[in-house]
Amino acid sequence: MFGVYIHFPYCRKRCPYCDFAVHARARIPHDQYAAAVRRELVERAPLYDGRALTSIYFGGGTPGLWRADCVADVIAAVRATFPPALDEVEITVEANPDDLPRAQLDGLRAGGVTRLSLGLQSLSPKHLHTLGRTHGRAEAERAVADARAAGFDRLSLDLMFGMPSQTLTDLEDDLAGVLAMEPDHVSVYNLTVEERTAFGGLQRAGMLVVPDSGVCAEMYERIDARLTTAGFGHYEISSWARPGRRAVHNTLYWTGGEYLGLGCSAHSFRRLPEGGGERFSVARSVDEWLRAPAVATRETLDAAALEREAVWLGLRFLDGIDRAAHRRLHGVDPVEQHAAEIERLRNEGLVEVSLDRLRLTPRGVLFADEVGARFV
Ligand code: SF4
Repeated sequence: MFGVYIHFPYCRKRCPYCDFAVHARARIPHDQYAAAVRRELVERAPLYDGRALTSIYFGGGTPGLWRADCVADVIAAVRATFPPALDEVEITVEANPDDLPRAQLDGLRAGGVTRLSLGLQSLSPKHLHTLGRTHGRAEAERAVADARAAGFDRLSLDLMFGMPSQTLTDLEDDLAGVLAMEPDHVSVYNLTVEERTAFGGLQRAGMLVVPDSGVCAEMYERIDARLTTAGFGHYEISSWARPGRRAVHNTLYWTGGEYLGLGCSAHSFRRLPEGGGERFSVARSVDEWLRAPAVATRETLDAAALEREAVWLGLRFLDGIDRAAHRRLHGVDPVEQHAAEIERLRNEGLVEVSLDRLRLTPRGVLFADEVGARFV
């Protein structure tokens, strides 16, 4: 699998919990940014010679704000550079519900976008206000209805839990509202308070209290129960999908696929012909990147490091790791290769091993980050 990620760093305003490479600007240089992305594509494409494209993903920031003709130009340039691997290449754009007038949706669809990922986070006025979000439930419902009318049948909705003062009843209300919008994919994230954000400052000052880990675990189990009862399959720690609607691009990250990142702060990964792989990234600041889109960090991974990474990423999948496929790709059986660690994790009730798979137990899913860290 091979995908192209395009980072669009602009947002209308910075949300107080956000730690991404984001620039809140009154005026977005739409054309300048698109031209710079296309130049970077030309420069880096030879590194991925011969790859066939499975997905394109516009993340951010708020790529839904990017003028639709610029998005279409970038899609056309990527498609002209890499042949498709499948009949339909998945092309996703992240967007906020209040940044999507109908004309923008029509433009994105006409430009080749096949899937929208809408950042709802919540439908409750109280929590949306706390998160500094500028949309309400009505805007979310309108955006979903307009997206369908514009021809988007692939719709992912993002929800957040563990927000300040959130109760289980609030969570149930959000889940009911999201399910009523009939998405085919739902991603759910636990709010993490990063130190260098406005929320981080409030927390240090004792002015922001989030639910403790026990409550968050209960919320997570409630989310899983509600979504699976509604017919969604829980396929990755934070992701639930209707049958056949798993996110192709995100799956690529978790299965060790290659990706080319374009735009400021984007990361790329490729396998090296001599074995192992290489990861590189460019400047986080958009102004710096526009001046010089040079590689800022570069890391070479040997075959053993790639294999360890495949274990911790693969365990994010609820299906677990296919031992035979892992052996074919990395030359070792993951259970034999990490026998001591796997045995400890089994004794702690965090992973289970069968003849063909290694996977997290339901309890292990709650501690997925801690389990993954044992292999890094
Ligand atoms: S809209 Fe998303 S990317 Fe932009 S500041 Fe808010 S959380 Fe960050």
